[in-house]
Amino acid sequence: MPETLSVQCCIAGGGPAGMMLGLLLARAGVSVLVVEKHPDFLRDFRGDTLHPSTLEIIHELGLLERFLRLPHQKVSRINARFGDLEFTVADFSSLPTQCRYVAFMPQWDFLNFLVEVGSGYPGFHVRMSTEVTDVIESGGAVVGLRAETATGPLDIRAALVVGADGRNSTVRKKARLSVEEFGAPMDVLWFRLSRSHNDPVDPMGRFDVGRIFIMLNRGDYWQCGFVIAKGSLTEIYAQGLPRFRDNVAKLAPFAAARVHELQGWEPIKLLTVQVDRLRQWYRPGLLCIGDAAHAMSPVGGVGINLAIQDAVASANVLAQPLRDGRVTAADLAKVQARRLWPTQLTQQAQLLVQNRVISRVLDSKVPLSPPSAVRLLARFPILRRIPARLIGLGVRPEHVRTPVG
Ligand SMILES: Cc1cc2nc3c(=O)[nH]c(=O)nc-3n(C[C@H](O)[C@H](O)[C@H](O)COP(=O)(O)OP(=O)(O)OC[C@H]3O[C@@H](n4cnc5c(N)ncnc54)[C@H](O)[C@@H]3O)c2cc1C
Repeated sequence: MPETLSVQCCIAGGGPAGMMLGLLLARAGVSVLVVEKHPDFLRDFRGDTLHPSTLEIIHELGLLERFLRLPHQKVSRINARFGDLEFTVADFSSLPTQCRYVAFMPQWDFLNFLVEVGSGYPGFHVRMSTEVTDVIESGGAVVGLRAETATGPLDIRAALVVGADGRNSTVRKKARLSVEEFGAPMDVLWFRLSRSHNDPVDPMGRFDVGRIFIMLNRGDYWQCGFVIAKGSLTEIYAQGLPRFRDNVAKLAPFAAARVHELQGWEPIKLLTVQVDRLRQWYRPGLLCIGDAAHAMSPVGGVGINLAIQDAVASANVLAQPLRDGRVTAADLAKVQARRLWPTQLTQQAQLLVQNRVISRVLDSKVPLSPPSAVRLLARFPILRRIPARLIGLGVRPEHVRTPVG
């Protein structure tokens, strides 16, 4: 017999979306269980960029000062180089927010922080090493989740189940929610190079013939993203590591003497880029949010921040119905209606950059002239406020409206 539990809301997945929703609902007096398949949050190169919109939510929760005591780097400008043209893509310094910068913080620190804060509320529960394997259905509605734990199977009954289990969501598969795929021309190889005190400070993107390279300042190391054409990994392996190191050295000449730190392929991790969206994010008794509802392209590094915005919108709409014990499909539809167009618009902007800039650069054999939007950004600094707003705040910033229960 499986162990059984009963809560008002059960959330599959302890990523940014699941943990933030769990915290907000518990703060509003709802009993929540977040189940996470891993034993901890220690995974490298997940989204580590907390944008002004996310920092604003933390401020609204009265936690900003405590949060900023955790180790992080502040970045108020993003620079890029297209051929020989160097320019600032986004300047966050004039955003109307408490924090006018992106905070780079390892995702495990961020998630541990949310758990620590959540644990202050009696309704907040987390079960690690608990993998959701199925949804439990009754009379056409989802009424719970089935999970595997180290001590055997677990059935969790809940008035609301939330799928926040990421881009390969088991919940959305088992609930038979249909997905629209938008495709991506690229994948990304992530790795570290050490940082010297003489190196530049701001993060940068470099667009060169057939190559795109991103470097994020993480204090004593660079988090590097080498963008490759989708499906070209086998060819890159076949060309060999010395050739890969040479390419990195050409793209980041100031770090050329450090490319020997790449001693094998093992620490070079592949991010398979996928962009998709559920046609309907809910069924009676079930809602999907974050990457489980819409996997984002890495363009703009907005994945975590959209996941957090979904969590805030969900808590705003659902805390009261959950407390009253009557969550209807109409409530769930309200969450989708609120978050759909910001998601659509962001994904459309990402697809535009993927198709008009990234594909062109990756396919190029000769130096390309920068696209007109890039030339405008280089020429008129005031225009940098537009990408700063889109990346930093998003198109429909959410605010915490849940009561403290
Ligand atoms: C390599 C990489 C780099 C990225 N870089 C950035 C970046 O710089 N900036 C940015 O904003 N975004 C970035 N992203 C995207 C970002 O990480 C995601 O958009 C964001 O984490 C989505 O949050 P989420 O909570 O919806 O899902 P996730 O963060 O994917 O969290 C889902 C959680 O569910 C758990 N889970 C999965 N299946 C189950 C199951 N069956 N049972 C229980 N638990 C389960 C997972 O272990 C995970 O903890 C990156 C993603 C990757 C993969």
